[in-house]
Amino acid sequence: MKIGIIGAGASGLMTAICAAASEKNEIFLFERQDRVGRKILSTGNGRCNLTNTNMDADRYHGTGAGLAWRLISKFGPAETLAFFRELGLITVVEPGGRAYPFSDKANSVLDILRSAADRKNIHMLTGVRDIKIGKTKNGFSVSCKCGEENSVHRETFDRIVICCGSEASPKLGATKDGYELLKSFGHKFIETHPALVRLKCNREDIKGLKGIRQDADISLCCKNGTVIAQNSGEIQFTDTGLSGPCIFDISGSVSADKRPKYIKADLMPLLTGDEVREYIRNKVTGNPAAPAKELFTGMFHSRIGMAVVQKSEVSPEMSVGRLTGKDTEKLVRTVKEYIFRDVTTEDFREAQVAAGGIDARDFTDSLESRLCPGLYAAGEVLDVDGDCGGYNLQWAWTSGYTVGSALKDLAENG
Ligand SMILES: Cc1cc2nc3c(=O)[nH]c(=O)nc-3n(C[C@H](O)[C@H](O)[C@H](O)COP(=O)(O)OP(=O)(O)OC[C@H]3O[C@@H](n4cnc5c(N)ncnc54)[C@H](O)[C@@H]3O)c2cc1C
Repeated sequence: MKIGIIGAGASGLMTAICAAASEKNEIFLFERQDRVGRKILSTGNGRCNLTNTNMDADRYHGTGAGLAWRLISKFGPAETLAFFRELGLITVVEPGGRAYPFSDKANSVLDILRSAADRKNIHMLTGVRDIKIGKTKNGFSVSCKCGEENSVHRETFDRIVICCGSEASPKLGATKDGYELLKSFGHKFIETHPALVRLKCNREDIKGLKGIRQDADISLCCKNGTVIAQNSGEIQFTDTGLSGPCIFDISGSVSADKRPKYIKADLMPLLTGDEVREYIRNKVTGNPAAPAKELFTGMFHSRIGMAVVQKSEVSPEMSVGRLTGKDTEKLVRTVKEYIFRDVTTEDFREAQVAAGGIDARDFTDSLESRLCPGLYAAGEVLDVDGDCGGYNLQWAWTSGYTVGSALKDLAENG
């Protein structure tokens, strides 16, 4: 069988390697960039968080969430780590379940995939442009421009797999081409929005906090107070807003909902409001002459303590002995409900993934199109997005394995 795979990122490489396990398959990988798997190199801050052993269905979103979970139940984290081990990659699972290559270098993952794809039945074409796919009587025709000389390449295929990824992070080569190619075969597009991305907020609410990390329970709320999403974990303060895994996982809900929103953060989830009040009273009794800016020494980073005091409209230099009952109540409330106003996301340039994509309900459990038999799709081009922590690469490996193995079986057994 002759197979054309469009896009040589995580899912495309995985599809090619699995399909090539049958020598009856001849595979052509078409990659737009000068090198394959470029995005993989930037994953996990250059470390590549390739999966997460702490896996469950809730980690996936979109029209393909159920499909993704069914397929991950067959080829999930354990199978993925075993697959990579077989190829020669040693991995380490950190507490919490995130898995990384032992080398701590994303290029180990890419190098192992590239060497596995270095087979005589896989042909790699890089630097391809203007790819067009047509339907023929028994399969598909592909034409594209290749190389510096822009020579036109034409080929016919029995099967086509679209692995072009999503539009997230165009500086790493992301395009919308996969959506367009699948739409041309009648597939429905679910509107995309940035996910796993930093949030922007009112600068006044993060003044002086850049670079600080703080554990918190957070609620994403609409103006009327309705809670849209909740999460717990580390917030990282940036110059424009908020970041960190806890923020990333609610960012899709921020971009999906166009209503004005704010985040309410409980900065001290270990203590109840009464206990925070008690803490303040003890500080006041212990040293009434201490300035208010030192009130939360021992609870928070000094700059968070200062931000809480200022947001409560208490003068930082005022001695704590002069705090009124009203001041104390404001301070308690700010600790338990610190508000970050005017929350929005950065755009696709900053996003790690796109929520939305091609409607996955039009694909079978082999990821074959129900609208155009012989056409397959894998990876983020489909409307599947996962949480932060290795879940998106897991979907790329799972979906690539699913398609590649189906094509291997088809070649072997007809
Ligand atoms: C900065 C960053 C960090 C990330 N970190 C992690 C992480 O640690 N863990 C995790 O699980 N996920 C992470 N992700 C998400 C993860 O990288 C993606 O979900 C995953 O790579 C998607 O795989 P894919 O094969 O669908 O797409 P991609 O890996 O993006 O591959 C698509 C390929 O198709 C090519 N292409 C596009 N258009 C065309 C065309 N017209 N013709 C030919 N080729 C084309 C592209 O050049 C690309 O090589 C991160 C993403 C980013 C941006």
